[in-house]
Amino acid sequence: MHIVITGGAGFIASHLAELLLADGVRVTAIDDLSTGALKNIEHLRSNPNFKLVIEDAANETVLDHLVRDADVLYHLAAAVGVRLIVEDPVHTIETNILATETALKAASRYGVRMFLASTSEVYGKSSAMPFREDTDMVLGPTMNSRWCYACSKAIDEILALAYRRKRGLPLVIGRFFNTVGPRQTGQYGMVVPRLVEQALAGDPITVYGDGEQTRCFCHVSDVVNAIYRLVLEPKAEGRIFNIGSDHEVTINQLAETVKAVTGSPSDIVHIPYEKAYEKGFEDMRARQPDISAIKEAVGFEVTRDLEEIIRDVADYFKRE
Ligand code: UDP
Repeated sequence: MHIVITGGAGFIASHLAELLLADGVRVTAIDDLSTGALKNIEHLRSNPNFKLVIEDAANETVLDHLVRDADVLYHLAAAVGVRLIVEDPVHTIETNILATETALKAASRYGVRMFLASTSEVYGKSSAMPFREDTDMVLGPTMNSRWCYACSKAIDEILALAYRRKRGLPLVIGRFFNTVGPRQTGQYGMVVPRLVEQALAGDPITVYGDGEQTRCFCHVSDVVNAIYRLVLEPKAEGRIFNIGSDHEVTINQLAETVKAVTGSPSDIVHIPYEKAYEKGFEDMRARQPDISAIKEAVGFEVTRDLEEIIRDVADYFKRE
């Protein structure tokens, strides 16, 4: 089997590539290294089944050439991190929409099964918890640049479903919830690597707002296992799945757990949102998936709790 992964040097993709290679699959990663990093895949490059193409996934000629010879296309290339999204909405929209259209065209041209990575961000600030795949989107105003991520990914999903209907594209869409683990960088704002790095350095642990907002964190190894099984499962075809843990924690609890697991002397400090991001920034008060669909389709299970996740991330930063 030959699998192409766009955004192949990214955090999630690097773990997926590792899993596929261990299963004897030939993997081609395409990445323009804008937010992906060579060091994420350094350890894979001596494997004869692994190939890296350094290019923008929106390059139609290159993607067409790669997908022609593939059995599955994982489209994971996307803008990452709330910080980057707020600071650069043009990059977010162009990356998310242009590359997805290119991927959809190539996959449908050759009838290649495609996995589209989407996001829990599409539920926006809905309070209909836990979110089911058919829950309504509730987004804020366009003046607030945060929503450009949800809007562009929602367009991606709608476009993908339309390609499936009109051009027979075999498709699975996955909405990632907060996915964490080794190789994720805090550079784009993600809370777990940021807090762990702060704790290890003895710097203040920065909790935004009152810290009572909640998230559900899932280890990346559980996530990539799930997306491998989803593309191979006939009854998943044509459907959208929430992917993540449904175990909620507040960011205050996360900060306390990071401090305890790392044995850090750091203080936990609270920072107002307008200082952390920009004036008018809207955060999600809570975000919890209903994961019954993915459990039923591929027997998805969350195998690592928050303490194990934090330990794994801390070990990674210590090795670094
Ligand atoms: N957050 C925080 N401190 C940080 C970075 C993020 O308290 O240094 C908060 C952020 O405001 C949000 C939560 O942690 O409420 C998760 O943020 P992240 O950017 O990781 O993911 P999101 O769920 O917002 O996409």
